[in-house]
Amino acid sequence: MKFLFFLLVPLVAFAQTSEKKKAPNIVFFFTDDHAPHAIGAYNGWLKSVNPTPEIDKLAADGMLFENSFCTNSICGPSRAVIMSGKHSHKNGFMNNGNSFDWKQQIFPKILRAAGYHTALYGKSHLKGKPQGFDSWAVLPGQGDYYNPAMLTPEGRKIMPGYCTDIVTDMAIEFVKESKALGKPFMLMCQHKAPHRTWMPALRHLHLYDDIEIPEPTTLFDQYEGRIPAQHQEMEIDRHMYLDHDLFTDLTPDLEIPKQRRPSEDRSAYNNMKRMTPEQLKVWRAAYGPKDKAFREAKLTGRDLVRWKFQRYAKNYLRSIKGVDENLARLRKTLEDEGLADNTIFVYSSDQGFYIGDHGWYDKRWMYEESLKMPLIVSWPGVIKPGSRNTDLVQNLDYAQTFLDMAGAKIPSDMQGQSLVPLLKGNKPTDWRKSIYYHYYEYPSYHQVPRHNGIRTDRYKLINFYEFGEWEFYDLKTDPDELTNLYGNPEKKELIEDIRKQLISLQEGYGDDTVLPTKPKEWQTKMRSTTSVKTKAEFRPRTK
Ligand code: CA
Repeated sequence: MKFLFFLLVPLVAFAQTSEKKKAPNIVFFFTDDHAPHAIGAYNGWLKSVNPTPEIDKLAADGMLFENSFCTNSICGPSRAVIMSGKHSHKNGFMNNGNSFDWKQQIFPKILRAAGYHTALYGKSHLKGKPQGFDSWAVLPGQGDYYNPAMLTPEGRKIMPGYCTDIVTDMAIEFVKESKALGKPFMLMCQHKAPHRTWMPALRHLHLYDDIEIPEPTTLFDQYEGRIPAQHQEMEIDRHMYLDHDLFTDLTPDLEIPKQRRPSEDRSAYNNMKRMTPEQLKVWRAAYGPKDKAFREAKLTGRDLVRWKFQRYAKNYLRSIKGVDENLARLRKTLEDEGLADNTIFVYSSDQGFYIGDHGWYDKRWMYEESLKMPLIVSWPGVIKPGSRNTDLVQNLDYAQTFLDMAGAKIPSDMQGQSLVPLLKGNKPTDWRKSIYYHYYEYPSYHQVPRHNGIRTDRYKLINFYEFGEWEFYDLKTDPDELTNLYGNPEKKELIEDIRKQLISLQEGYGDDTVLPTKPKEWQTKMRSTTSVKTKAEFRPRTK
């Protein structure tokens, strides 16, 4: 009997090991512009609103990365880094204006060659026909929230409904198909939400009606000591449009008025024109009374900024609600199909975002709110539920991580590090001590100058190299990055040490795209965000 027991134990252990080695499915549930501080589990200042109960459940089941960063805080480039595992200067997609070279090595192609069934649905933002996928359907460009067009291998199709629901429907179908095929799958379910211009689902138009969203403490930041920030164009105050961004006062009746002059911005109307009469009726019924109250209040100064912030933050969070619900719907499908136990579920977004922080919307800067990316991973049986990791990780690591999860070979020219050891609770001794950042798109929308920089666990050094402007922050004493310490004699040695580390990272990653400093005029009146030009936009910032 004793002998039989000893014989059985190794057999059972072997059976369990062999079961675990079955290639896991990978679901990459990805959004556009979802800042970590708009996720409850990240404990930011929006937590009290309870914006993401379902994403919070994912965090409770898996691991949340508190120090997760992008390499270049803008949509297309972040996605190109994720696909290639290489910095922007290596994968060639540095600006949103670039086109991605799909012929290059990307992780989905490697997984597909390794036997994975692969799909990409929703927002690609990389232009061109996706390669490396058995199934794909992508939004052209930024895509639309209502009744969006989608590009598929069979051509362009108009899909009736709300974008976040439609993309998730495709993902659910793919999960079922993959199960029937009996192959492991890698699914990229990539949403437009909560990207500008923020249009929630009809069922969420009244969400948060009865509450005030808490304001960020830096809503009226005046940018002392930060010259590049004084020249941007992404303020809720001066640069956010009441019509284009907030759909204000477009609600009197169902008829969409004709264009009154060639320069008139029609983007908000164009978004609304995509709706069916039934959808438009619900939309206008929800916003009509709010717009009437706004017209009658005749707000100015800080009161107007605060009103715009509320409308913006509510529509942003309402758009996120659609994401949160659909994440739950996809997770439930995995459960119902008996696939959840062998499926790794990853939630992330292409960069962070300003939700009134520093008075802004949009991203691009190396400041914390847009540098950070949410990253939450559940992996049943491998990740300890409810764990939180504080190591420095980046979107640069995702490709290698996915390949490692699948047991596929990792190409030596990828520039990140697999997160699998961290997910298992084992930090490699050579884990990175700092991250490298490089933003390129200037002059362009929102007028954020090119800059590169380094962030350690405590310090951040930024070089706006075209203008010869440097900024240095101690994140421990100044988490909001309001006091630029560059030039402070007490910090001279520390800054020099960090500057050397920056050069070392720049050279180590082979980045030769930093331009020399030349005297250059600040371009402050480009007003490139839309074609609208009015004198009011060039007034001083509200104090
Ligand atoms: Ca984005």
